[in-house]
Amino acid sequence: MAEVDPVKLYKLQLTWLEHEQWIQNGCPASASYQLRVPGYSAVANQDVRAYGYYRNSFVPFFAAAKGFVGVHHDLMSMVENTKRSHSDVMRRLVKAYREPTDFFKAQWENLFDTFFCDGLTHQSLLQYQRKYEVELPLRFLLNLIEVARTGTLDLDLARFRDASGKLKKGVVADHLKGRMRCYPSLHATVEQAFCPRLRNAVGHNAYRIRDDMVISLDGSFSLTEKQFIRKLEALQVLQNAVIWLFQAMQADYTSLETKGVIAVGWGGEGADEPRLIVFQLGPFYELDKRVTWLTDIVLERDCGQLRTRLNGAPDILGEVTSDMEKILEKVSASGRLPFSLVPVMPCIHTHHPYALPQGNFCQVAQEVDGVANVRFSK
Ligand SMILES: [Zn+2]
Repeated sequence: MAEVDPVKLYKLQLTWLEHEQWIQNGCPASASYQLRVPGYSAVANQDVRAYGYYRNSFVPFFAAAKGFVGVHHDLMSMVENTKRSHSDVMRRLVKAYREPTDFFKAQWENLFDTFFCDGLTHQSLLQYQRKYEVELPLRFLLNLIEVARTGTLDLDLARFRDASGKLKKGVVADHLKGRMRCYPSLHATVEQAFCPRLRNAVGHNAYRIRDDMVISLDGSFSLTEKQFIRKLEALQVLQNAVIWLFQAMQADYTSLETKGVIAVGWGGEGADEPRLIVFQLGPFYELDKRVTWLTDIVLERDCGQLRTRLNGAPDILGEVTSDMEKILEKVSASGRLPFSLVPVMPCIHTHHPYALPQGNFCQVAQEVDGVANVRFSK
């Protein structure tokens, strides 16, 4: 696995976040606005649903870059498994969480600030406490696990509230932990995220920061800076995963497997058989990992350029260089074209990425080789 470059990751997160905030602000000055996240402009021109899908895919991508791999997959599996056994109750659950837009927007905005936590400070401890108090993701997880276990939906969650009606979040977190063992990544993240003793120490101002540690005044617990940041990140990942899930459940992502191709290249000079290299964004490749959709390729000359059409996918336009003339002759004679589809995402690592017209990308999964029929359009 390539090593993550914290500066590249930070810059990409910031660019992504600015774009999300621009959307929340109603897309001001859209005529002059630049889509700066690598791949956005290509995908936005292809399909509006594909663009939504790609935007949302950065939530699990960023979580994985921080070492939280599999949380989103576990969460989606839990929803799918529960739907299979309790479809009617699940429909009611999803409907109940279809929040009003303003509320949803505010939640979405609040949840992203800790991308940029500045270490163990009073400010970041308050950030943890504030985040800890956000009820919606926790309520949803609790409802989901109860539907999975018992087939019943209790939206009030009265037995998890104290005398004043507040959700007892530590109790809920313990309850969840005991019942999520079949979903190990989700389980580990819940376990990491909720630390009632930390929340109480901060909430009651009963802690001190000393030697890069947070220590409760009664001496009952302490955390190093690294341990604290891990908890804050876990809480953020968990809450964002639930918001990500809401987006994913409400969107229609069917038949997007042909989208997200951002560039093509040619291999096979000299004696080798020509080969088309297809760079597709990773989330789209995930929808059809055997690339069964790519059966037919149409090539078309257009004023010194080559237009490449991959089945139903949007056209890719590129220059025809002098080395390519021979390759194209061979392709034209054979009627078939081997291809390698390379799944890519914007590069956040220390290695050297591919410089594609859309920005710097690198391979995120094994390429898929295949052969397609090819013809030249006049
Ligand atoms: Zn990379």
